[in-house]
Amino acid sequence: MKKIVVAIDGFSSCGKSTMAKDLAREVGYIYIDTGAMYRAVSLYALRHNLMNEETIDEVALQKEITKIEITFRPNEQGHSETFLNEENVEKQIRTLEVANGASRVSTLKFVREHLVALQREMGKGKGVVMDGRDIGTVVFPDAELKIFLTASPEVRAERRFEELKQKGMEQPFEEVLSNLKERDFRDQNRKESPLKQAEDALLLDNSTLTLQEQTDWLLARFQEKTK
Ligand code: C5P
Repeated sequence: MKKIVVAIDGFSSCGKSTMAKDLAREVGYIYIDTGAMYRAVSLYALRHNLMNEETIDEVALQKEITKIEITFRPNEQGHSETFLNEENVEKQIRTLEVANGASRVSTLKFVREHLVALQREMGKGKGVVMDGRDIGTVVFPDAELKIFLTASPEVRAERRFEELKQKGMEQPFEEVLSNLKERDFRDQNRKESPLKQAEDALLLDNSTLTLQEQTDWLLARFQEKTK
């Protein structure tokens, strides 16, 4: 069967990673969570005092960017986890603070250039499902299958609220919703690779779809492209 690149882009918390992981597992592809890479840079910057609530020390971060090594490794259950300079940071990168920092460091050109180069390297052999904001527009503009996923802000905030709760990291719903809207705005309005639907991407609004319906829809699109 022909190997392809599947690019899944869209707004924060609309279920891109669930969709991407499900497809990767089903078809034996590698799943790459590019948001985790921006989150790892954010965690690094926060830990090294290169960023606070107001400012980012861009000069210092740029000097250190090549020291930030990000890899993915499967855990015992076969789920991919994020490593920052050999440390498993899968849990640490999922906080709202790190998410907010990720949306800020992701506006910086040198951060994007560094991570896009790593992402292209990871996907060069094809057989990957990659999710993010610019995969179909910038990272792999020639990806054979591109999906642009969306859902209403309230539906997305509700899902993220539940996810955080299940992980024992509960946050007030209003805070989750305002964090999400703030990130949407930043993602769509930044100068470098703003979030937008690629012309040849298929649009899917999953506000009212069940997980099974979404999985079936994506698998059918995948089969069309690979037959
Ligand atoms: O998808 P996730 O919420 O984990 O992404 C964290 C942040 O990283 C997003 O808010 C977005 O600003 C940024 N990002 C990006 N480009 C990508 C993936 C994520 O700018 N390809």
